[in-house]
Formats: sequence, structure tokens, C-alpha cells
Amino acid sequence: SLKPSKVTKSQLVPCTICAIPVPHAMRYKQLACTCSECKKVAPYTTCPWLGKVLICQVARIAAVSEADKHITVATASRKMKLTEPQKEFAREMAKHGMKPAHVRNAMRSKFRLDDDDLPTLRQVQNFVNHFSKSKLGANDRCIEINTEIRSMAYCGTEADAQSFSFAWEEDADGHPLMGNGSDDRPFLVGLTTKRLLRRMDRDPSTFVFHMDATFKLNQVGYPVFVCGISDKTRSFHLVAIFVTSQRQVSEYEAALAALRRVYTRVTSKQLALKYVMGDADDAQYNGFQSVFAMDCNLTYMMCFYHVMAKVIERTRGLQASQAAVVTRDIYDLHFSRSDEAYEDRKEDILSNWGVCDELLEFSAYFKKQWLVGKFRLWQCYQSPSGHATTNNPVEQFNRLLKRDYTQRRQLKMGMLIKQLAACCTDQSMSTRPFQLVTEASSTLNNRVKEFRRQGLLTEFNPRRGTLEYLLHDAQPNIAHIRSEGVQRVYVPSRNRTQEVIAISAGMGVQYARMERQGQPPTGWEVDVRCGVCPCNYFFKFGSCIHLSFALQVRNVIDSDGNARLVYRGVNKRKRGQDSVMRGALVGRPPNNGHALDIQ
Ligand SMILES: [Zn+2]
Ligand SMILES: [Zn+2]
Ligand SMILES: [Zn+2]
Ligand SMILES: [Zn+2]
Repeated sequence: SLKPSKVTKSQLVPCTICAIPVPHAMRYKQLACTCSECKKVAPYTTCPWLGKVLICQVARIAAVSEADKHITVATASRKMKLTEPQKEFAREMAKHGMKPAHVRNAMRSKFRLDDDDLPTLRQVQNFVNHFSKSKLGANDRCIEINTEIRSMAYCGTEADAQSFSFAWEEDADGHPLMGNGSDDRPFLVGLTTKRLLRRMDRDPSTFVFHMDATFKLNQVGYPVFVCGISDKTRSFHLVAIFVTSQRQVSEYEAALAALRRVYTRVTSKQLALKYVMGDADDAQYNGFQSVFAMDCNLTYMMCFYHVMAKVIERTRGLQASQAAVVTRDIYDLHFSRSDEAYEDRKEDILSNWGVCDELLEFSAYFKKQWLVGKFRLWQCYQSPSGHATTNNPVEQFNRLLKRDYTQRRQLKMGMLIKQLAACCTDQSMSTRPFQLVTEASSTLNNRVKEFRRQGLLTEFNPRRGTLEYLLHDAQPNIAHIRSEGVQRVYVPSRNRTQEVIAISAGMGVQYARMERQGQPPTGWEVDVRCGVCPCNYFFKFGSCIHLSFALQVRNVIDSDGNARLVYRGVNKRKRGQDSVMRGALVGRPPNNGHALDIQ
């Protein structure tokens, strides 16, 4: 047994150690001491020990010889192995996705170890990696992944929130069949729960179906498709997650067809979709058409975010003022109220662009890509007000997936499947309701607060005695609200890259413009009873600062957007003016005396 050493020389020379008569080579290696004990005794000299190893390349015989003595014969004491409680602790931590370095640090505080007793990082790494590879499925081995997926296959007796796997290709027993991810045997598996699937069991015109691919979740480079629906407040409800090896039409078809089939198995109904939000991806578009077009009246909408991202890319070569005009025109198109209005505006805009030579190229591109063909539906009026017009709801969910389930790491496939299954179960437990009515978001309420503080929102009250006053007073449910100022609307951005922040900021400016576009001098006529504002922002989002402000002024809601009890007391401000009329309606009727009067 040699003390620790390193190879300082290694070369092939004619063999001298074996008996084979034919000339051949052997490897000659020279070793130098790296023992820490020798270093400790004489820190500034090199240990004179030299080792020599000769290895015959044909007979595989080795000869070892030593020259000179070590400075000390003492050998460094080997580190202790992990104790059983330490192993148990490391297993527990590994199950929760902790990295070896974290496990080691946690061990230090948990077992109060000092540096000498603490296992080395290498030891912890070996233990944790072996454990997660063999017991937690942290591997890319086909057989183990197949076994895992087949053991989770849908059988019908699952609990509502228990996740199960499904696929389009099935064997005779109805178990999913997966390929190995090669071109001719693609890998595709879906994960969901009964409760997640039942979320789609509602009127198809009340939700938008999203499907978005997300990447970098696993070490073999397979994309993950996240499917879900968004409601009237644009919040996202997960339906299913697919892992697939390719992004071709055939995989989209297989995934959607499998989703349809498993939906029918769980609910005994046919899956019906009306609004689908997608990216400008031919494969995805064709997949939806071939699976749903035969019995659904499908509206394949384009993510408006993607339209704007591409437009910004294409207008980079233009002058800033021209790019601004183009952007403005496209937002005007986006906010069109109807097919006719859209067609009229489209003609106007194209003829305006046609006058300008620099815009010819962009105009041709925009017409070809976004005004005709598969990806032309990105206007607000394509879906009911309040519904999503971008893929942002699902993108936000993808962020959560990366933050909470894969911890921004690329996992081994076996581990990823387990994490996604856990995610499906967790999402099934969510109590967030599916909203059928639009509702002012907290950011909108904050914006109203800020506007009120700065006096940028006012209710228009005509002077008494004028004709306007009479008209105004005849409609008690109408509030005339004016908004001033061109502050940006806050649009949360998908990630922190510069381009994405630029798109979000641009959207914020345009949305703020839509709050005031076409505002009459006497303000928007907000219908307080029905909760409707005529502004463009309301048309898209189903809520706006004018409506929230009007409801606050009329005391229907407080400044946080919570409904208040209806005020039935005497209106002090107006009491003097017509107390007979209004006073008669509230409080004790004037001809009713106190109880004591009667007796
Ligand atoms: Zn030899
Ligand atoms: Zn030595
Ligand atoms: Zn997208
Ligand atoms: Zn409004």
C-alpha cells in the first residue's frame, strides 16, 4: 500500500519485465509523493520519495519499485464514513431536492460537527448522488422510466387529486407506451389528475385553452407542454402536463388526442374547445386543427405578446418616429371592437403605410404574417372581454414550475416525471375559484388609489340649471368619469431580459393610451349599475380605472375593491335640496311615529 502520490512522468518504452519474446512496449510511470503528513512535517521541502511503475502493454503485468524514504511513515487518517443517522438525514434532504453541498452544510448544524468530523463534500456527493440515482429516479434509463410511468397509468380508480399518466400509444392493457425519443420512436407522456381534467367540463366559451412549450427542465433536452385554461380574470388553471421528445405535428396530435381520450374516460363527455391561444407555430396550429376542427368551432388566437415581439424586432431598422406610428396603429387594430371596424381600420392603416417608402417592406411582412393566414386572430374582439389575449397566464405558470418544482435545474427524466406528477396533485388541491365574471385586479385598484391621490380622476358634474344637468340627473346610474395624465399601466414582464421588459413597457404605454382614447370632454359615461365603461381598456380587460373609481365614488366598493353594504341612510349632502323627495325613501317613513306615540 503506497502513500498518496501523483504521476510525474508517463511514457512508452521497450518492455523488460515479461517473458514474451516478441519486442513490444510497456508503460513507464514515475510517481512523486503528495502525502499530507510528509508535507506537515517538512512544509518547505519536497519529499525525496520516488515511485516507479512499469506496466507491460501485452501481458498486463505491473512492477512497482520505490527509491528513497518518505520524510515520515505516518499516513493521514482516513475520513470517517457517514454514520447511519447522517445517512438517514442525507436521504431525507435528497428527497426534498437538496444539493449535496446544502446537505453537507445542513449536517454541520444538525449534528453540531466541526470541520474534522464533517464528512467531505466528495463523500456526501457520492452518497446523495447514488441514493437519488437508485431510489429517486434521477436517471435517464428507459426501462426504469417506463416502469415508473406504467405504474402510474390511468386505471379509473384513482382519487380525485391523485396524479396519473396517459399517452396516445397504448398496449393491450391500456398502459401507456413510450419510445426512446429517437426520430422513429418519439417519447410522449402526459400527466394529470381527475380534478384537473374536470376543470374543462364547462361551457367552452367561458375559457381560453392555452398550450405552451417550456424548455430546460431536463437533461435530455425534451420540451414540456403545459396545457391549461384561463378564466375571465386571466388567471391560469392547470389541466395537464406533457413531456415529449419532439415538437412536430405528430407529437401535438398525439398529445391532444390523448388528452381528449382521457378526458372522455374521466368525464364520459366529449372535450369541446372554442378559444385556443397559441404561438406562431405551424406544428401546433395543425395539431389543433386535426384533433379538434372536426367537431369544435375552434378559434385559434395568436398570443399578442408574440405579435408585438416580432413587430419590435422588424421595426428596429426604422426611424423611431415611424416605429412609434406603426406600433400605435397595430395597437389600434388590436383594440378594434368588431370585424367591420377592424376591416375599415386595416384598410386605412395599410394605405397610410403604403404612402411611405421605408414602410413598404415592413408592410408586406406584416400583411403576410399577421393579417392573413393562420395567425391573423390577435384582436380583442375575438374572445369575450376579460379573457386573455396573450399566453402570459401559462408563461407565469411555467415560471412557478421552474421555481418550485425543478428549482431552475435540469433534472434527470425519472426525477422530472415525479416532480411534474407532484405538481399536478398540488394544483388539484388549489382552491382558487374559476372566475366567470371579470374583477378589478389589485394592481388596478392600486392605480386608482394613485390616480385619486394625484387628482387625475374626476367625476364630471354639470352646473345646476343647465340642460346637461337635467339630462345628467335623469340617469342616476350613469357617472361621468374623466381621467387625466398618461402614466403607464404596469404590465408584468415574463422575464428579466431587456427585450421582454421593452415589450411590457411598450404595452403599458399603449394600454394607458387606450384608457383615454376617444374620451368625451364630459368624461366616460360609466354605467354603475351594470358595471360597464365605454373605454377601450374596459373592452379588453372587462375592468378599468373609470369603473372602479365610479363605484368608489358611489360607495359601492371601497378603495381595495371590496363590495360595501348599500347605504340606506339620509344623504346629508343633498338633504337640504330635496329632502321631501329623497328623505321619503330612506329611514323611518315620516308618517310613522315612534312606538310610544301609538300607545
Ligand atoms: Zn511485456
Ligand atoms: Zn512522502
Ligand atoms: Zn409563448
Ligand atoms: Zn373605462
